Amino acid sequence: MTRPAPLPRGTWVVRVHDRPASVERVLGTLRRRRVRIDDLTVARSSRTSMVVVVAVRAEDTTGDRVCAELRASPDVIGVERVSQDEGEGEKPESTTNSDMTTQSGSDQMNDAKLFEDDDVNPQLLEDRRVAVIGYGSQGRAHALNLHDSGIDVVVGLREGRPSADAARDDGLTVLSVSDAAKQSDVIALLVPDPVAPDVYRDEIDPYLQPGDVLLLAHGFNVHYGEIEAPPGVDVVMVAPKSPGDTVRQEFRAGRGVPALLAVHRDASGSALERTLAYAHALGCTRAGVLETTFAAETETDLFGEQAVLCGGFSALVKAGFETLVDAGYDPRLAYFECLHELKLIVDLAYAGGLSGMRSEVSDTAEFGDYVSGERVIGEESRAAMQSILEEVRSGAFARRWVDEWRAGGSEFARMRESERGHPLDEVGGTLRRRMAWLDRSGCA
Ligand code: NAD
Ligand code: MG
Repeated sequence: MTRPAPLPRGTWVVRVHDRPASVERVLGTLRRRRVRIDDLTVARSSRTSMVVVVAVRAEDTTGDRVCAELRASPDVIGVERVSQDEGEGEKPESTTNSDMTTQSGSDQMNDAKLFEDDDVNPQLLEDRRVAVIGYGSQGRAHALNLHDSGIDVVVGLREGRPSADAARDDGLTVLSVSDAAKQSDVIALLVPDPVAPDVYRDEIDPYLQPGDVLLLAHGFNVHYGEIEAPPGVDVVMVAPKSPGDTVRQEFRAGRGVPALLAVHRDASGSALERTLAYAHALGCTRAGVLETTFAAETETDLFGEQAVLCGGFSALVKAGFETLVDAGYDPRLAYFECLHELKLIVDLAYAGGLSGMRSEVSDTAEFGDYVSGERVIGEESRAAMQSILEEVRSGAFARRWVDEWRAGGSEFARMRESERGHPLDEVGGTLRRRMAWLDRSGCA
């Protein structure tokens, strides 16, 4: 009888959340799938994650299936396979899942920790220079808050941009983008997302050194592979959950706004701690910083703005307005009911959730909510939301938007133009001129 051929041996690096029994569950999956474990090392890779380096023996097809199963586990941040020849016994520089750009964010971190001031070592930024690239909504708030927190910060901008004068007037040092990148250890890229890949490629990437940190405030470009930093550079995100003005205002008032934090690549082994120090200097750990992933932040952000906040909202308001106007009602009444009064409802829900809102409106309104809401957003709308989510997760929406932007944005411009003349906006423009308070609050 011939002996069966020995099973191929390989080394897998599995990064897991540091939760009770997460390593045991990973090992349980390997045993259940009859993957033979030859050697095993478990080490901490950051404050909230552990790395399991495991030498295994398994058929290649079994290995593929098991890795896919591990990646889908809520315990697992990433799985990297290091082949026997190139990697046995040697730990790769980055333990972040190299499939991160295609891995969906839905299976991760449902019980992630909320970091507060006490969890931070602010000294990690003390001897480091931070370059804030861009001086718009987020850039200005980040630069000023970091500066006031005692961090050595410079602003990187193209010469001649009006925002360069604004930054100098605020007392900050302004350099060209490439000089700022050259001279800094942490580069916060806070220009508009569609232009960020070009700015990154031409003026930042050539100057990044191992040990640097590339920080973003939104995951889009990294998640969809538009920006790929060289190995050795930490790639992280701090996304305040507020416009820049509020980030600044709350900081000055001694408070802070909540933020999301994510580590895409932990090359230094201390990416999380350094990113927390940055979030602390912004004031965000005063309010709480939630760890997530680039995938989850990007996918929920795009889905939210399409299905609910911008797309869903505009379509709902237009449909309500048109239904009343088509039935012969005065468009001004339709405007008041379907758009103007939304602010009241949104403010109530913002402060007290749906229950808080319902406890403030009349019983008639609340009863009408229960009997009619699900008829408006019914099966058809939920199916549409599913396909929107699919397009976001597969990258199809991102591809379409990036292609549209690169091709000059003519379809986008056409869409904008055709929406602009909607009767809702015409009626609204006339009515809003009588709302004196809008001028005073700057919301006109
Ligand atoms: P913004 O449009 O307010 O400001 C961008 C700034 O970038 C401009 O003021 C200018 O200084 C600079 N800039 C513009 N075009 C440039 C170019 N071609 N080259 C170099 N510099 C250029 O942008 P923002 O809203 O602050 O967004 C920055 C990042 O923050 C984005 O990733 C965004 O998704 C994220 N973010 C924004 C908010 C928000 O409320 N605005 C909230 C969270 C995260
Ligand atoms: Mg958003």
